[in-house]
Amino acid sequence: MAPLQYLARRLRSARAWIVLGVLAPIGMLAASGLMLLDLRQDAWDKAEQTSKNLVQVLERDIARNVEMYDLSIQAAVDNLRTPGLPEMTSELRQLILFDRAATARDMGVMIVIDEHGDIIADLDAVPPREGNYADRDYFLTHKTRAGAGLFVGHPLVSRLTGERMLPFSRRISKLDSSFGGVVMGSVKLSYFTRLFSQLDLGRDGAISLYLSDGTRVMRQPYAEADIGVNIADAATFKGFVRERSGSFVETSVRDGIERYFAFTRVGDLPLILNVALSTAEIEAEWRPKALAIGGIVLVLCGLTIALSLLFGRELRRREAMKVELERLSLTDALTRLPNRRAFEEAGTPAWNAAQRNGKPLALLIVDADHFKQFNDRYGHQVGDEVLQGLACCLSASVHRPHDLVCRVGGEEFAILLPDTDQAGALRIAEKVHAEVSTMTIGSVGIGAGAVTVSIGLAAAISNGVEATALTDLYRFADGALYEAKAGGRNQTRCANLQDLPAGSQKRRLQIVNGS
Ligand code: GH3
Ligand code: MG
Ligand code: MG
Repeated sequence: MAPLQYLARRLRSARAWIVLGVLAPIGMLAASGLMLLDLRQDAWDKAEQTSKNLVQVLERDIARNVEMYDLSIQAAVDNLRTPGLPEMTSELRQLILFDRAATARDMGVMIVIDEHGDIIADLDAVPPREGNYADRDYFLTHKTRAGAGLFVGHPLVSRLTGERMLPFSRRISKLDSSFGGVVMGSVKLSYFTRLFSQLDLGRDGAISLYLSDGTRVMRQPYAEADIGVNIADAATFKGFVRERSGSFVETSVRDGIERYFAFTRVGDLPLILNVALSTAEIEAEWRPKALAIGGIVLVLCGLTIALSLLFGRELRRREAMKVELERLSLTDALTRLPNRRAFEEAGTPAWNAAQRNGKPLALLIVDADHFKQFNDRYGHQVGDEVLQGLACCLSASVHRPHDLVCRVGGEEFAILLPDTDQAGALRIAEKVHAEVSTMTIGSVGIGAGAVTVSIGLAAAISNGVEATALTDLYRFADGALYEAKAGGRNQTRCANLQDLPAGSQKRRLQIVNGS
C-alpha cells in the first residue's frame, strides 16, 4: 500500500507528469523500433535464404551439364588415339570419335580441330563442315599451354550455326606430347537463358554468369549488349573472387541499383554464378509497414508528449493558482499587508517558539486616531489612501525578517515582534509614531502630523505570568490601546505583565507619549 500511496503522491506533481509523458513515448518508440528492425531482419533472412538456395540449385544444374559435355569432349580426345583412325572413312571415324558424345538439346557444336585450326571431325556432319579456328582463344590457349585442361573460352557466335555459344575445349596431344589440335564442344547460351528465365527475381533482380576473368557470359534479364562485357574492375566482381561462395550488398556498376549478391563458383570451373536481389525490393514489403507503424507510433508519441506537457502545464497553473489563492487569502487587498488570518496563522507558532526558547515576544496594536473624520471629510477613497500610507509607515518601522505587520481590522494594525522585549517594542512604537508623523497626502492637503495613531503594547516572555496564550497577549495589548485612546491618543501604552503577580487579572499600564 505504501508504494502505491507514494506513487499517487508523486503523480500529483506536474514534473512527474511531464517526465512520465516524455519517458513513456521514448519507451514506446524504442519498443516499436525494435519490432520494426526485427521485421526488417525477417525480410532479409528470407531474401538471403532464397538467393542462397537458388544459387545452389543453378550451380548444380550448370556443373552437371558441363560435366556431361566434358565427358563427351574427353571421350573424343581419348578416341583420337584409336589405331588406324586417319585411314578410316569419315563415317567410321565420326562414329568412333563421338561414340560417347552427349546429344543434349543445349549442346551446340562439337568438333575436332587439327593443329592448324582446321576441322577434321564434326559431330553434326559427315564429311565435316569446313572451317578454320586457329584464331579462337581456346585454340591459341591450348596451343601455347599444354596443361590448360578443360578450357572455358569467351562467349562467341558459332561460325557454323550463327548461334551464341560458350566453348569448352580440351587439348589433343600427339604421342611426342606436342600440340595436335583441340576438341571443342560448345553449350548454347540459350541453355542459360532458359535456365535463368524460369526464376522470378522481381523487377530489379538479376542472375549472372561470369568467367573468372570478369567476362559476362549471361545475364537474366537478357540484353544482347551485356554478353561478353568484362567487369573485372567492378567492386561487385572483386567481391565474387574474394572467396569461393558468399554474399554481400553492393551497388551495381551496370545500372547503379543497390543489390544483395549471393554468389558461388560453379564446381571447379572458372565460372562464377550470382543471384542478385534489389535491396529496395527485399524491403519493399517491410518499408510501407515500417512507415505506417512508425508514423502511427510517432504521432501517438507526439500526442502523448503534447498532452502530458499540456496536463503538466495545467497542473502547474493550478498549483500556482492555489499558491496565489492561498497568498490572497492571507493578504489584505487594500494595503497588501498580511491580514488577520495571516496574523493568526503566524502568531501561534511565534508564541510557541518564544515559549520553547524562553525568548521574549511583543505585540503592538496600532489604531488610527479619529480615522472616521478623514473618511467624513475627504471621502472614503482618501481614507483608503491614509490606510495605505499607514501600512507603509508601519512596514518601514520594522526591519527584522520575522517581524510581522498585519492589518487586523478597518483602521487597526498589529505588529508582532518575536525575540523583542518591552524596551525593544517601545523603540519600534516610537518609530511608528515618528514615521506616521511625517505622512502627508498632498492631493487633499493632509500635511505632516495630521494623521496620528495610538498604540497598545504588550510584551511577554515565555514564563510571563499572565500572558499564557497569544489571545491573552492580544487582549492585554488591546487594553493598553484602549488606555492610549482614553489618555488622549497619539501615544503608546504598555501592559506591563511581567511585574504582575501570578494569577492577577490587573494590569499596570505605563504611559509613553507619542511623538
Ligand atoms: P478612534 O480614534 O476612537 O479610533 O476613532 P476612529 O474614528 O478612528 O474609530 P471608529 O471605530 O469610530 O471609526 C473607524 C472608521 O474606520 C469607521 C470606518 O468607516 C472606517 N473604516 C474602516 N475600514 C475602512 C476602510 O477600509 N477604508 C476606509 N476608508 N475607512 C474604513
Ligand atoms: Mg481608530
Ligand atoms: Mg478602530
